[in-house]
Amino acid sequence: MHIIMRLGAHVSVAGGLHNAIPAAIDIGADTFQMFSKNQRQWIAKPLTNEEITAFKEPLSKTELGPLMIHDSYLINMGSPDEGKGKRAQNAFLEEYHRCEDLGVAYLNFHPGSHTHPKKSMRDDKTVRYEALERIAEHMNTTLDQTKGYKSKLVIENAAGQGTNVGIKFEEIQHIIDNIDDKKRIGVCIDTQHAWASGYDWRNDFDNIWDNFNDTVGMEHLVALHLNDSKSDVGSRVDRHDNIGMGKIGKEAFGRFMKEKRLKNLAAYLETPGGPEMWKPEIAALRKLAEK
Ligand SMILES: [Zn+2]
Ligand SMILES: [Zn+2]
Repeated sequence: MHIIMRLGAHVSVAGGLHNAIPAAIDIGADTFQMFSKNQRQWIAKPLTNEEITAFKEPLSKTELGPLMIHDSYLINMGSPDEGKGKRAQNAFLEEYHRCEDLGVAYLNFHPGSHTHPKKSMRDDKTVRYEALERIAEHMNTTLDQTKGYKSKLVIENAAGQGTNVGIKFEEIQHIIDNIDDKKRIGVCIDTQHAWASGYDWRNDFDNIWDNFNDTVGMEHLVALHLNDSKSDVGSRVDRHDNIGMGKIGKEAFGRFMKEKRLKNLAAYLETPGGPEMWKPEIAALRKLAEK
């Protein structure tokens, strides 16, 4: 049997984190992504030993993994406001503790936004790069405070809505360039976000990965978010669609599944429709890998 990506989806943790495990098994997944708390809250209570055991014990009886936690959407480590930046960093550290406590391999996060109020400054390189440097600084502090942790901090490329930074591979690389200890850093490429920020998977697939390798380097890539797109290439609009039903299309997803450089990654669906859609999507992706 040839190796293909380990496939999963962002499953629900309603009723407790441990509920993610049967939810992943039900859809035929090899792995899963989840929130570690209510994503609309800043800080949750620390996990109790009971909660940790209730999650890790049934997990140890499965082959699921590597798992990914998606951090709270409220966290913006790119903020130029010192107080807001500090608050984001504290919440991020809290997420990292939870991730490590649960034995989850990856803490995935959106880099953040520069929040400059002037529209004309949206794509100003200095404004954007200063935000990327603030993000790296917060990550450095987090890494300093967590020596010995095994979980990786995984930077996800953004679609480019509003003043989001971390869109192009060069911007992700600029974060990594400013990280002191790169061993616990990974990158997750969201196929929809990349498409929305101008990477044309339909017409430019090989060049995009060559470009990724030349900037970030394949050695940093740990995961994909496999999402089709309701919005156009270059639209900078973050709208996920089901695999093969959007503007990226089935053929391009076949290329993701067959690409040798991606075969050791984990990939998570964040597509609409819930488990009834994810189960056939995972099955269809596995088929595309065989063709
Ligand atoms: Zn994503
Ligand atoms: Zn998205």
